[in-house]
Amino acid sequence: MQMNKINTLDNGVARKEVSVKELRAALNGQVIAPDDVSYAAARSVFYGGIDKRPAVIVRAADATEVSYVVLLARESGVELAVRSGGHSTAGHSVTEGGIVLDLSDMRGLQIDAEARTAWAETGLTAGEYTTAAAAYGLATGFGDTASVGIGGITLGGGVGYLTRKHGLTIDHLLAADVVTADGQLLHTDAENHADLFWALRGGGGNFGVATRFQYRLHPVDTVMGGMLILPATPEVVAGFIAAAEAAPEELSTIANVMAAPPMPFLPAELHGKLIVMAMMVYADNVEAGQRALAPFRALATPLADMLRPMHYPEMYPPEDNSYHPTAVGHTMFMDHVDQATAETIVRYIQESDAPMRVAQLRVLGGAMSRVPVEATAFAHRKQRIMAGLVAFYTGPEDKAKREAWVAEFAAALNQGDESAYVNFLGEEGEARVRAAYPGETWERLRGIKAHYDPTNLFRLNQNIPPAD
Ligand SMILES: Cc1cc2nc3c(=O)[nH]c(=O)nc-3n(C[C@H](O)[C@H](O)[C@H](O)COP(=O)(O)OP(=O)(O)OC[C@H]3O[C@@H](n4cnc5c(N)ncnc54)[C@H](O)[C@@H]3O)c2cc1C
Repeated sequence: MQMNKINTLDNGVARKEVSVKELRAALNGQVIAPDDVSYAAARSVFYGGIDKRPAVIVRAADATEVSYVVLLARESGVELAVRSGGHSTAGHSVTEGGIVLDLSDMRGLQIDAEARTAWAETGLTAGEYTTAAAAYGLATGFGDTASVGIGGITLGGGVGYLTRKHGLTIDHLLAADVVTADGQLLHTDAENHADLFWALRGGGGNFGVATRFQYRLHPVDTVMGGMLILPATPEVVAGFIAAAEAAPEELSTIANVMAAPPMPFLPAELHGKLIVMAMMVYADNVEAGQRALAPFRALATPLADMLRPMHYPEMYPPEDNSYHPTAVGHTMFMDHVDQATAETIVRYIQESDAPMRVAQLRVLGGAMSRVPVEATAFAHRKQRIMAGLVAFYTGPEDKAKREAWVAEFAAALNQGDESAYVNFLGEEGEARVRAAYPGETWERLRGIKAHYDPTNLFRLNQNIPPAD
């Protein structure tokens, strides 16, 4: 690892060896090797149970350094992992024996409050961006968690608290700067490399390393939002989904059907009981928000009602960086949650003894559904409900048991649509990646991949192979 050598491998191609010493001499960014004290922390990602040891982790300082690392990966042939916030559900942001290109030191953010646009480097997290934009009473929608990187969530689509009112994260994306497999830095938008710009909006990390994004901002200041906890009977679950579908588009909801964790604001006798833990945002006038939330509060006597007028970033409470859950899951879309479906959901959650098990239901529609299906590589515009089934596990044996439960639960809820949301896919194989790109999207993406990354350099991701 210390010397820079040229090897001729089996196929006769001259390959450069990765040299930590050379990387350190060439780059201003941090270069972290296995014998560095910071290596253990630097190789860890959000999810636990992922124990890969990269040869080197490079925290690039700028787009030029990104390009340097991309070319090194190409010339050496070693596996390249690209990391923004490190929340990949599949553990794709760390590699065994390869290079991790970590963007977390690239956190530049320029907000043009008057034009309501922002240029953001992709090492920023959703929470950092949201807090900075909120200083101007503005927001771009991301997901439900502050520590998720804007890199991964944007490239996969981005479903969150502003989805029904303003659309997906990619619906606010105006431009992206990307280092492609040949090391070039390309500016992409609706006019420049429009095919690549289309692919970046849902196609994940397949097409290059996004170094910065330009987003549209929307006025979002005080919202009516927070957490509502209801008892999870089938009537409440079905009623919640019906109310969320009937609600004005200003309201986006995430309903988690789960066993109550020992949260301090819940009396001890409720811990372990089935609840709907709903996260809700009405992104407009507070009085109208109160009216929109009334039908949810009326579904049952709330076990906790923490809905209140709040500054939008308060939807992202502080997180514990040492939290690394081990979990398995399944992403799917559903057409309806009627009484019978709700009964199935409640029964599965009740019967599992996983330390934590959740059915997460997000009613879609609104602004995201008005964007034409073919306008971006995220093609699930007409889906009504996104569901995520998750079970935590404690060890390898337990993992198999939890996977079986998730698979059985998913089959019980299947309403004939096999589609998947790419950002919630684990390491689930080619067919499931294909399921993330229905219709003509898959072939179109494969064609664009063949043009920009014909050798599949960017393959440690939910991989779209280049067209033949
Ligand atoms: C706790 C939690 C909550 C979540 N909540 C939501 C939610 O509410 N809504 C939602 O839509 N999603 C949500 N997600 C899913 C999340 O969007 C994806 O896991 C996303 O890929 C994470 O992005 P990241 O940058 O943090 O992850 P990383 O692990 O850093 O990146 C994931 C993958 O994206 C690619 N990538 C990342 N950055 C770049 C870049 N700059 N250029 C090229 N490729 C890149 C790489 O292929 C990488 O392997 C959640 C995930 C977790 C763990």
